[in-house]
Amino acid sequence: QKAEWEKLKNEPSVTADGKKFTIAANIGTPNDMAGVNANGAEAVGLYRTEFLYMDSKDFPTEEDQFEAYKEVIEGMHGKQVIIRTMDIGGDKHLDYWDLPEEMNPFLGVRAIRLSLQNEEIFRTQLRALLRASAFGKLGIMFPMIGTLAELRKAKSILAEEKDKLTKKGVKVGENLEVGMMIEVPAAAVLADQFAKEVDFFSIGTNDLIQYTMAADRGNDNVSYLYQPANPSVLRLIKHTIDAAHENGIWCGMCGEAAGDNTMFPILLSMGLDEYSMSATSILRIRSLMKKLNTEDIKELANKACFVSETAEENEKLVDELMKKVN
Ligand code: PEP
Ligand code: MG
Repeated sequence: QKAEWEKLKNEPSVTADGKKFTIAANIGTPNDMAGVNANGAEAVGLYRTEFLYMDSKDFPTEEDQFEAYKEVIEGMHGKQVIIRTMDIGGDKHLDYWDLPEEMNPFLGVRAIRLSLQNEEIFRTQLRALLRASAFGKLGIMFPMIGTLAELRKAKSILAEEKDKLTKKGVKVGENLEVGMMIEVPAAAVLADQFAKEVDFFSIGTNDLIQYTMAADRGNDNVSYLYQPANPSVLRLIKHTIDAAHENGIWCGMCGEAAGDNTMFPILLSMGLDEYSMSATSILRIRSLMKKLNTEDIKELANKACFVSETAEENEKLVDELMKKVN
């Protein structure tokens, strides 16, 4: 099987009926680029920049960040790279940043909340990203957006920094895109409104499932409630994809579900545009995509969201489907 997958390395990601989608890689550091290229990723769909902060003894300087971002962007040779601004907080901490203890860190000052409460640190990151954007095709993505106010604030800070750089004569990429993660249920519910203010969405199922099901993603005692294929989660995902398309923007997914054999056919049926996963999953999913015909799975999304009552029913639906195509 591995040998079969290997042959797909330089092939485009297409379905049995020739529909083209993007399979992208999730990375944590520029060192991951070898695996990205070895597995034939068509983009970087998520660069988790918090590792840059976690692997250093003090805040990385604008220059350190610029070098790291530029390395990844150049390494993709014109293919898109989505870089997410830092997602510190929750379970991710920095030794050199003494933040107040919280009762519920995953519901506390995390990701964009932390960035907006520490604007100088955020601005430094944005300047590094804007400068790096001149070296290829960059998408800047904000994590954990829950309200339009947060998105607008983040975008206005980005616009200010861009303006300042441009006035100084610093080159900024012309095809820079600005997007957001959909990982807070509130944002998924209002996806139709958010879609009017960004260039793309990327659905973060790791958190979206945890927040929708109110089940800690790292707690084994509630893992039975952490159900990617629960119809409630699927409805939020479908609504997000539909809202994106109705507003003319693309929608990706960078949570684990994008590279999951059970979730993938359902997501494909919903018309998700981009699937971002760990590099080692890419060829497996490309091979699965090749077996699926979008006409045959047209009804799957609606069934999974509106007929099924449980995650188990959806797992069975996909099992049955796979028996037919294999
Ligand atoms: C997610 O929540 O699905 C996601 C991709 O972000 P992270 O796993 O870094 O929280
Ligand atoms: Mg997340």
